[in-house]
Amino acid sequence: PDYRGSVATTVRTTCPYCGCGCSLYLEVKDGRLVRAVPDRDDPVTRGTLCVRGSFGYDFVHSPERLTKPLVNVNGSFEPVSWERAIAVVAAAFGGIKERYGSDSLAVYGSARCTNEENYLLQRFARTVLGTNNIDNGSRLYGGAPEAYGLAAPTGALRHIEEADLILVVGADPTTSAPLAGYAVKRAVRCREAKLIVVDPRETRLVFFAECWLRPRPGTDAALLSALAKVLIEEGLVDLEAVEKTGTGFAAFKDFLAALDLRRVEEVTGVSATVIRQAAELYARAQHPVILYGNGLNQQVGGTEAVRALGNLAQLAGGRAAVYALQRDANARGACDMGTLPDFLPGFLPVADQQVRRSFRDYWGRLPATPGRTVVEMLRGAKEGQIKGMYIVGENLLGGFPDAAFIREALGCLDFLVVQDLFLTETAKLAKVVLPAAAFAEKEGTFTSFDGRVNWLRQAVAPPGESLPDWEIILRLAAAMGCPLPYKDLRGVREEIAQLVPAYRGLGFAEAEAVGEVAATGEGAPAPVYRKQPEVTPHFGPVQEPQLPDNDPAYPFTLLVGSTLFHFGTGARSARARRLRKFYREAAVFIGETDAARLGLHGGEEVRLVAAAGEAVATAKISATLPEGVLFAPFSPVQDTVGRLFLLEFDPERKTPFTKMVKVRVERIGGD
Ligand code: SF4
Repeated sequence: PDYRGSVATTVRTTCPYCGCGCSLYLEVKDGRLVRAVPDRDDPVTRGTLCVRGSFGYDFVHSPERLTKPLVNVNGSFEPVSWERAIAVVAAAFGGIKERYGSDSLAVYGSARCTNEENYLLQRFARTVLGTNNIDNGSRLYGGAPEAYGLAAPTGALRHIEEADLILVVGADPTTSAPLAGYAVKRAVRCREAKLIVVDPRETRLVFFAECWLRPRPGTDAALLSALAKVLIEEGLVDLEAVEKTGTGFAAFKDFLAALDLRRVEEVTGVSATVIRQAAELYARAQHPVILYGNGLNQQVGGTEAVRALGNLAQLAGGRAAVYALQRDANARGACDMGTLPDFLPGFLPVADQQVRRSFRDYWGRLPATPGRTVVEMLRGAKEGQIKGMYIVGENLLGGFPDAAFIREALGCLDFLVVQDLFLTETAKLAKVVLPAAAFAEKEGTFTSFDGRVNWLRQAVAPPGESLPDWEIILRLAAAMGCPLPYKDLRGVREEIAQLVPAYRGLGFAEAEAVGEVAATGEGAPAPVYRKQPEVTPHFGPVQEPQLPDNDPAYPFTLLVGSTLFHFGTGARSARARRLRKFYREAAVFIGETDAARLGLHGGEEVRLVAAAGEAVATAKISATLPEGVLFAPFSPVQDTVGRLFLLEFDPERKTPFTKMVKVRVERIGGD
């Protein structure tokens, strides 16, 4: 129905999908969302929304929403009261804690929950359950730049537009973070910024690029180190200034001296001439901006690659700003709030006694040992060390590789609680399922990938008896005999502003006022940014370039990436009426030469076979892929693609490898 002209209320809030943090107005009629309208007064997003922000909101009214707490009784779910559900969870967690100790419990939070909810969740894990076994969904996407020792500046969207050079590595922002994609295009078209794209695929940004480096998948670290070598050895950087900006430079210079450019050409497939062209462009820039995505940090050797990028940034002598295009709406905020096993709120290390003391003084208690990442939690469950798990807003069976292993690991738990909007595949394994409110049904803040603190405001009531995540966490803490000392969300925000350095004195009230001012149409809101924490720059060691493994049984490299029309596991976007028309089936894109060799014309079903498993997908022919490289969109059918991956992860950051896998292609019903 067309409700235009008869809208009852309009509420300014924040898009729940990617980390760009676009502000939007939700129009409400008869208690239902009827339209999302861009905020034309927003000085950062300037009235822009991508297709997800414009048409992806109505999952909120899906008939599949959970409306009552559920308890699994003899294999089937029965609706129960909140009192009963909370009592069951509190008794189970209390019993496990008493019998096996606090570290037999684990909590997995979500980068889709607000800052306040993430803060409460980590405090619940640390002070109520008594464990640092707390992680969040952004682990899957490499976590935050600070986790790699990179400074995390604020204001990316503004900086992109003001940059004279933009380097995009391992990312296609036109699909993963469209607002950043628009900013890159505007900088090139309107301000004549130079663009360097590093990607094996011919993404849409390549059309705007001055220089396209097309490395073999998985060889970015070698390529980025080669750029650094050329910059230093051809005298393109001010070495004296660079040496003053960070530690470890002497060892780094020795590494580069030994790096053989011919070997880099052989490993990456990129000629030294093109590497030199890119290095010269980079050296000439006064305001370079570097954007990297999960294509960089989710590959095998992802930490090395991010380190190589950090080294390159430092060679600009402090002029370069590096931004991670973190995927989820609140990926940055979730990490800032300390839903991490090794960092307390504000990226303060758990292992630091002084830091621990300051939090313990405030909270009364705090376990000393750093906890487990989510992959370690799952392995611990399978090995019998983790007995109980609380999963908030994440569908592990949809988002991670090796679903069979995850199913088995979760099946080994004595007790699993899942808190979500829908009865996801993961929730179906739980003993108790708690129904949560969606973005448009609650208040709080998200922090965008460029550090803006954006206000989330309630537009409609949660369905049935579902509750905001923060309220459920508070009820659970009280039922476990350790009530958390907050009367409302304002109290949580006050504590964040006191204890988290990047948010200290930020004035959440200002962020709230931004929402109020804009909602009443009284003026253009000014953005509120979290502060940039101090990070001491360090030139990190990078490994020698290595040719990727070449197994004749699996001759293709399958890259997995985002699409514009869906997001994450598709739990929300695939339930949005207008988005679910796109990518309803698993698809694999195949380059023209490879397709001709395989006798494919597009539209046929093919079987993708990897060492870990098989998946069936519809073949689509694409001119954007080099020979030997395939591409599969990540959602909403990623559980299909997920079967191709083993649960392997980066040894340093424990990020699972989910971006590329070696496969062969078999025609179904072919010769
Ligand atoms: Fe939402 Fe990201 Fe699209 Fe903005 S760019 S509307 S935040 S999905």
